[in-house]
Amino acid sequence: MFSLENIVRTNIKELAGYSSARDEFKGTAEVYLDANENPFGTLNRYPDPRQVNIKKRLSDIKQTKASQIFIGNGSDEVIDLAFRIFCEPGRDKALTFSPTYGMYDVSAAINNIELIKQPLLADFQINLNQLQPYLEMDDVKLIFICSPNNPTGNIINKEEILYILNNYHGIVIIDEAYIDFSTKASFISEIENYPNLVVSQTFSKAWGLAGARVGAAYANEKIIDLYNKVKPPYNVSSLNQEAILLALNSQTKFEIEKNILLIEREKMIPQLQQIPIVKKVYPTEANFVLVEVEDANELYKILVNKKIITRNRNSLVKNCLRITIGSPEENLKLINTLKEL
Ligand code: PMP
Repeated sequence: MFSLENIVRTNIKELAGYSSARDEFKGTAEVYLDANENPFGTLNRYPDPRQVNIKKRLSDIKQTKASQIFIGNGSDEVIDLAFRIFCEPGRDKALTFSPTYGMYDVSAAINNIELIKQPLLADFQINLNQLQPYLEMDDVKLIFICSPNNPTGNIINKEEILYILNNYHGIVIIDEAYIDFSTKASFISEIENYPNLVVSQTFSKAWGLAGARVGAAYANEKIIDLYNKVKPPYNVSSLNQEAILLALNSQTKFEIEKNILLIEREKMIPQLQQIPIVKKVYPTEANFVLVEVEDANELYKILVNKKIITRNRNSLVKNCLRITIGSPEENLKLINTLKEL
């Protein structure tokens, strides 16, 4: 059913063997006169285009091969490159489940790809009956599944995802930006079983490194090869590679901070439920919570005036604000402010 050969864009197939970084000398030497760098300074050399050290550490942690990992300039680059590898501009289509992360839409538009937005059900799960015809359409090349989903916070059911992986001719990208906050397992363990699966993760959320702009895609080697072929050679700077390696080598900070946020999340939910203008607090497996209030536009403005910024998601889910779980002090300030209204 699925054949990578049928899915890759023609011009990308023709890039066979091409990668400016791939032609370069790979070992260590005494004198480097190959890359037109300045010999003086500390940041004078180009970064490792293959991010070998990061991939080595991540392959241990995630139980994959290093060759099954792509490192991107944020996971936003994983999304953008997917359009560029698999979708012919002006002809092919991609599919998302709304409401969801806005970047799929932006990247599709930039790449001149039509995006089919299929509404999630009332419990924010996938409607397989409605999806079925699209699974068979030749020009629908990509399906994005955001799990935990932004802005709703829920995990998408495993059964539905497996059904799509088994019955779809195109590429399935599972965006697990928030997976570290969830009790459910990542789909990374399935990349050996599904040649059409790409799992995307990020250092921007639980790892606390949004400023470093580093994300990762996990997939079979053939897909990762395509990603490496299409990416700009030096897509992750040396400073940012260093920051990621430091974090990967001392994971205690990550574990401690993640646990604080999980405790805060479980504290925040009942506190929010007690606020009179709050109508519903949706269940969440992420570091944010979707909250339905009487008037989201108004509450958003009131909070801005009190110097508290939330995300008004009224246009996506009626009268809903998406509220990030902050530090204990920040969360207390929000709850006290809401109590005083
Ligand atoms: N996916 C989802 C679902 C997100 O919410 C975000 C960031 N808001 C991203 C991907 C992008 O993350 P980054 O580019 O920082 O890795």
